[in-house]
Amino acid sequence: MKLYDLTIHELRRLLDQGETTAEEVTGTIYERIRMLEPRVAAYLSLAEERAMEEARSWDKQGYGDTTKPLAGVPLAVKDVICTKGIRTTCGSHILANFVPPYNATVALKLKEAGGILLGKTNMDEFAMGSSNENSAFRPTRNPWNLDRIPGGSSGGSAAAVAADECIAAVGSDTGGSIRQPASHCGVVGFKPTYGRVSRYGLVAFASSLDQVGPITKDVTDAALLLNVIAGYDQRDSTSVPKEVPDYRENLLEGLAGVTVGIPREYFVEGLVPEVERAVRQAIKTLESLGARAIEVSLPHTEYGVAAYYIIAPAEASSNLARYDGVKYGYRDREGKTLMEMYRKSRSEGFGAEVKRRIMLGTYALSAGYYDAYYKKALQVRTLMREDFLTAFRQCQALVTPVAPTAAFPLGEKVDDPLQMYLSDVFTLPASLAGIPGISIPCGFTSEGLPIGLQILAPHFEERLALQVAYNFEQNTDFHLRRPPL
Ligand code: GLN
Repeated sequence: MKLYDLTIHELRRLLDQGETTAEEVTGTIYERIRMLEPRVAAYLSLAEERAMEEARSWDKQGYGDTTKPLAGVPLAVKDVICTKGIRTTCGSHILANFVPPYNATVALKLKEAGGILLGKTNMDEFAMGSSNENSAFRPTRNPWNLDRIPGGSSGGSAAAVAADECIAAVGSDTGGSIRQPASHCGVVGFKPTYGRVSRYGLVAFASSLDQVGPITKDVTDAALLLNVIAGYDQRDSTSVPKEVPDYRENLLEGLAGVTVGIPREYFVEGLVPEVERAVRQAIKTLESLGARAIEVSLPHTEYGVAAYYIIAPAEASSNLARYDGVKYGYRDREGKTLMEMYRKSRSEGFGAEVKRRIMLGTYALSAGYYDAYYKKALQVRTLMREDFLTAFRQCQALVTPVAPTAAFPLGEKVDDPLQMYLSDVFTLPASLAGIPGISIPCGFTSEGLPIGLQILAPHFEERLALQVAYNFEQNTDFHLRRPPL
């Protein structure tokens, strides 16, 4: 038995039966981290001493408390989520030495449920990117092929899960940052409905889009983690005061009577044949399990990239104004005037992509351009949301590819921002509409790279996405394969 490749539910069973201890599992995973990190580079910080201490304390206390579903489970957290006393960099030089004085609500909930924080995972700077190459520190590599990107921006979390350098992880998704890296790393990634999970203590990128969610080895774990982190939080005014169902409850329900919509706009030029084949095959599998598949249309899909890359940078330009060298983060010491200090702190602290977004966003919000760009983008966003609402009158869930290609080579798109942005084409619409979406493994390319299937559901119908995903997973074995490390 390899302790590191367990899922949450498997590990909990072993702990409950006394077949292993939290200390043993946590120690084993740190050994694996030491062995693999020189190649994978999924983590930015580790909290080993603290984690081992917590593990021992769980072993002493026992795991029986049902309010602690994660007791003794070692987890990784994306470095955009504030962790009290543990460095939180957002993958940026400007926060390279930032140690938050408080926990994000998500971090707190994981801790209160008994989760053990192994460390903080690598990401594109301020979650801006699709490849992890925008990390100010170093790129994470794809465990399936070390010359490929793991996806982004939660690439560190996805790679850590895929490489068994943690039992499960959390990431954040603004335009695909959970789903796309999960797809490229062959694991499960779930972006809940906007407002389902608190954003308090999640460093803001684009506040009308940001959402936290699980990255796990299987669908059951995604449901389990969502159970822990979902729910209203009075500290986040956009979190929704809606009851949180037990997301594991209807996993076992079959697909008879479920209609899945296949949006024709997601099968267009640019989608490579191998990925299309795997997704079409997955749809056949769903049909064989009792689902009815129908073609639907989301006519405004083609405007998603353009709208997102106005709205997200606009919000980012405003959110990132707080990094002024005064309140926290990097401060230039040489500037002679206040203005010079601001300018130098920001010029030296931010990387190229972040600066590009600040400029794009500032431009789109400036007088004279606001109506032409920002307002227009918001109008497109409304139309895209309506597309989804219309489609969901004909079906309960939508099934699509996650990304047009499997993981691309490191360096391939890094100097071509537009190509990088276009790779988000299938994940951005759900973010703009605020609906939940899960990415699950559905195949491999001839080169052995994972391919993901995206399942989208109506607002707050996470259960439907999980149900479709679980049925697929239980009848296939893609999620059981491990990278050859
Ligand atoms: N790749 C998209 C971007 O660069 C999405 C990132 C995210 O979801 N955080 O903005």
